[in-house]
Order: sequence, then structure tokens, then C-alpha cells
Amino acid sequence: MSWVFLCAALIWLGGAYVGLSVARRWVLTAFLGAVVLLTHAIFPADSPLIMALGGSFTGWAVVFGLVALAGGYSRAVGWIKARAPKAPVAEQDGPFSDTEIDRYARHIVLREIGGPGQVALKNARVLVVGAGGLGSPALMYLAAAGVGTIGVVDDDEVDNSNLQRQVIHRDADIGMPKVFSAEAFMRAQNPAITVLPYHRRLTDEIAEELIADFDLVLEGTDNFETRYLVNRVAAKLGKPVIGGALSQWEGQISTFDPAHGAPCYQCLFPEAPAAGLAPNCSEAGVVGPLPGVIGSMMALEAIKELTGAGEGLRGRMMIYDAMYGETRIIRLSKRDGCETCG
Ligand SMILES: [Zn+2]
Repeated sequence: MSWVFLCAALIWLGGAYVGLSVARRWVLTAFLGAVVLLTHAIFPADSPLIMALGGSFTGWAVVFGLVALAGGYSRAVGWIKARAPKAPVAEQDGPFSDTEIDRYARHIVLREIGGPGQVALKNARVLVVGAGGLGSPALMYLAAAGVGTIGVVDDDEVDNSNLQRQVIHRDADIGMPKVFSAEAFMRAQNPAITVLPYHRRLTDEIAEELIADFDLVLEGTDNFETRYLVNRVAAKLGKPVIGGALSQWEGQISTFDPAHGAPCYQCLFPEAPAAGLAPNCSEAGVVGPLPGVIGSMMALEAIKELTGAGEGLRGRMMIYDAMYGETRIIRLSKRDGCETCG
């Protein structure tokens, strides 16, 4: 009996060692079974060959019958498995993970954004100049919307008096550079995006190189020097600027894009007002949620700009009068002789 099992072991283990296919090993096993049964059928029970093999014809018939059944069952299962429809593969099969598709589902179902729009947001690079009142909500909504790369430039630190309106910063962030506080919020809100913080003042030396690295600029500083600089450099590079501004109870927003026929900021305001004529937020005050309204509109215009949805604010300025709950639109046009784009 042991000879038969030795031969079977040789077929399966030795066959595996020399790389014999499973099908061939089954053929050899069947051949072994046939030889054993044939020997039992031909030779008398007391012959030395039968004694060496051991067992009986019926016993071996049962053993090889069971082996044949097991082999047949395993082949049948393999055959069914090979023809079964493939289960969906869990690995990422496109630009988005399952988590991202779920997160941006409310965008993806919008006809004007959809899958292609969401991909455009993911591939977009947006620079936000200023992480203050307007920058805070703009950055928060850009991060939440899945804008793939968000740069933020600001040289300021979080101050206690900022927290009445600059909602991206918290009490615990007082004293921290605003760009790092904003970065921490955005990374926590959406780990799938890249945040590039620049803790420095935007100056002539770095503006061109920095802005050239982005598709779109959101400008929300209350510093005229920076505002004119962004306008000049973005116009030179042909990049659109979504600009927001605030004063006390009133906010305004427009898209400046002289490369595409729209006026630039300097078309409207040829020169900065004399010192004292245009007091900033810290001097004149500003109602807390107002930068939230205008900054959120800036993020919304950015999403429209990047996805091609709707109609942007090129050549138009929206003015929101919070005191009376009124909104009006004024038409803007390029100014002949504009120092930036004329
Ligand atoms: Zn201009």
C-alpha cells in the first residue's frame, strides 16, 4: 500500500518541484490508479505483486474513486470561478479615491461642475494673497471644495483683534504666523489637498515668480501697495485676479483680467487714495460677517472660473451693502491710458 502512496507523493510533490502542471499531475494520478486496479484485476490475491500493493480491488477502487471526485470538484470550482464576473477592484481607478468621490458628490451632481469640473478643481493652483478677513473664508471654502493646490502669502501674525472676523484662526493661534494657522486649518479640513504657505510680504522681488506658479489669484488685502503690485504682475503674466474689498458695512468684488478684455484694478482706481482718505478695517471698523460674505463669494467665483461654470465678474463689480441688505452691479470697462493694461 505504501508503494502506491509513495508514487502519488512523487507525482504531486516531485511534479510541483519540476514544474509539472496540475492537469498533468492529475493524468499521472489517474494512470497510477488504473495500474493499481488493473493489477488487482489480473493477478491472483496471493501473488507477490498484490501482497506488495496491499489492499483489495474494492478498497483501491474506493480510494481512487474519492480522489477522482475531489479532483473533479476542484476543477469544477476553478472553472466556475474563472467564468464568474470580476468583483469591482478596490484600488483607485481614476483621479479620485472613493473618499474623494463621496466628499465631492454634491459638486459632481451639479451639471455645471460634474466630474470634469471636480477634476479641474483638483488640478488647479490658486494663490490667495492675504490670510485675513477675506482670505479666511476664501481659503476655507477652496480647501473644502477640493482645489488641489492652494498657496497663501501673508507676513502677518494672528492678533486677538483679528478673531472677530478672521474665522480660519483660533484663540490658540494668537501670535502664530497667519499662513501657518491657515495651513493647519486647511490640512485638517481636507488632507487630500496641497497647501503652500508663504510667510512673507508679497514684494516686487518675489511677486512675479510666485504668481507665475499659479493659475488664479485671489486678492483680499487692505494694503494698496500689495493690491497694485498683484494687479500689475498678474496683468503682465496674463493671470486673472478675483479681487475683494471691504469698508465698514459694504463689500465689493470683481474679476480683473485684462488678458481677456476685462479691465484691471488700476483701470478703476488709477492711483491709491491719499493716506487717511481710505481708512482700513482697523481704523474704520468692519462688521464681522461681511468679510465672510465677500470672501465666500471670492471662493465661489474661483470655482466658477476654474470649472467654466456660469458667468464670472469680468467687467462687472458686485457691491453688497450690508447695512440695507442690497446688492448692485456696476459695469466696468478698460480705461485708455491705464498704466497697467492700457
Ligand atoms: Zn488697466
